[in-house]
Amino acid sequence: MNLVRVAGLPAAMLALRLHRPGEPLRTDQLPVPAPGPGQVLLRVAACAVCRTDLHVVDGELPQARLPIVPGHEIVGRVVCLGEGVGRFELGARVGVPWLGWTCGGCGYCLEGRENLCRKARFTGCHLDGGFAEYALADERFCFALPELWDDASAAPLLCAGLIGQRSLRAAGDVQRLGLYGFGAAAHIAAQVARFEGRRVFAFTRPGDRAAQDFARELGAEWAGGSDERPPEELDAAILYAPVGALVPAALRSVAPGGTVVCAGIHMSDIPSFPYALLWGERVVRSVANLTRRDGEEFLALAQRVGLRTEIQCFALRDANQALARLRSGRLRGAAVLVPDPGPRVSP
Ligand SMILES: [Zn+2]
Ligand SMILES: [Zn+2]
Repeated sequence: MNLVRVAGLPAAMLALRLHRPGEPLRTDQLPVPAPGPGQVLLRVAACAVCRTDLHVVDGELPQARLPIVPGHEIVGRVVCLGEGVGRFELGARVGVPWLGWTCGGCGYCLEGRENLCRKARFTGCHLDGGFAEYALADERFCFALPELWDDASAAPLLCAGLIGQRSLRAAGDVQRLGLYGFGAAAHIAAQVARFEGRRVFAFTRPGDRAAQDFARELGAEWAGGSDERPPEELDAAILYAPVGALVPAALRSVAPGGTVVCAGIHMSDIPSFPYALLWGERVVRSVANLTRRDGEEFLALAQRVGLRTEIQCFALRDANQALARLRSGRLRGAAVLVPDPGPRVSP
């Protein structure tokens, strides 16, 4: 079969792969994959690093395939079209999120809740992701990216932005919003929340003055440690930090009727807590994954907001360093991997 492709595609590429949980990613040389029907091959221009990547690397997501190329916030340019591809042309800039494929036929898929499809395949978990020079994607699950952001700045929108958005919606149409864990997702959600006229209260690791200053720069009217109580009751809180002990802490801070949203895919155990914290129709819920509709709505809204992402770029080869920085919390905004300087792997 003849595939439509750009000239000069190499035969091999660099990919950072996880072979065994708990080990650093290895730098592997792999064949550049050929797109199957409905797939596009992308030359990766940027891939942001998400806390979920850390959970994959640490073996906390047992569903992950091994070996696997992590990375599910991919910005790339289409360099080869699989059979039947019609949405994108060669050279198009697209974004690839966590949701990589769904069955399309189950109740969840048919009800517009494809984020819950039990057969869903996730980028950088079941499907090789963007910590590589090239990546495959199903064109139906890619997003066209507005011009407003350059490649590296757009990458964090694809998970931190999308999940931030889904969690904001789950928090309800409320005024006083608490954000626990002020990293990549919160720094985007705070801007959207301010644009919508909400009041933002930011909770960081205790004593993390830099993160508290960052939160105030982005419009939080109060920022403090997660061990502190906010100056007034909140209407809802979103937990971006994967720390189960924050659930009762957040319940203590929300008013009756308020919602606590757990936005991460993995969290340490939630300690037991007095029922009185939940009483008063408080709600604890999670949000899982994203739908394509979330993505379309978020990207349109992000343009109206004029959303800006704060990023720190690392070379692809330094993916392990980027993961270590995320783990230690010594990051302002989001870490983004960009192609190594110099020539790519040649045929
Ligand atoms: Zn993510
Ligand atoms: Zn399904």
